[in-house]
Amino acid sequence: MRIVLLGPPGSGKGTQATRLADRLVVPHLSSGELLRTHIGTGDSLGELVKDTIARGDLVPDEVVVEMIAKRLADPDCVQGYILDGFPRTVVQARALDELLADRGQRLDAVLSLEVETAELLRRLTDRAARSGRDDDASRQVIQHRLDVFSERTRPLQAYYEAAGLLLRVDGIGATEQVTDRALAALRSVAR
Ligand code: AMP
Repeated sequence: MRIVLLGPPGSGKGTQATRLADRLVVPHLSSGELLRTHIGTGDSLGELVKDTIARGDLVPDEVVVEMIAKRLADPDCVQGYILDGFPRTVVQARALDELLADRGQRLDAVLSLEVETAELLRRLTDRAARSGRDDDASRQVIQHRLDVFSERTRPLQAYYEAAGLLLRVDGIGATEQVTDRALAALRSVAR
């Protein structure tokens, strides 16, 4: 299955993507993780994106699209994948549609993890405190990332709803419970 997992920062998207990839036996493709690997190795792409990521802004569409296009061409993606963190803008979603169309493929489903903003703020602030980064700068970055999600990424819900692909999943509750809900939603559309 080719699945996109949509969700704001703090929605548990990364955790659920890992668990779903495991259960569905497909690779988990996290754009954030791929970008962090480039930063870790200190290559030119990493250098290009590190300040943008630290500010909580989005990396330019063409940079992420090229990176994901390369990854999707890897042999382990033939049977499908879970995309986590990509697409994040309508431009990226259109680019993904084109990449898939070139191969005669389409997405099977887009899971949207739904968690209200007050809960997201609480989770992200807790996480910052545990990592020792509970300062004004980190609070501003958290708020900024939530704003960026609302402005740039939330429109993808309507985009994929119009395409008949959107499955909304309640993201509140125990991790296993949320995974079960997502799997049940996927079963409901499995052909
Ligand atoms: P994530 O691990 O998905 O939260 O991503 C961490 C950061 O990487 C984001 O805050 C963005 O700065 C950047 N990033 C990840 N995926 C994308 C994307 N699809 N488009 C633009 N920027 C991205």
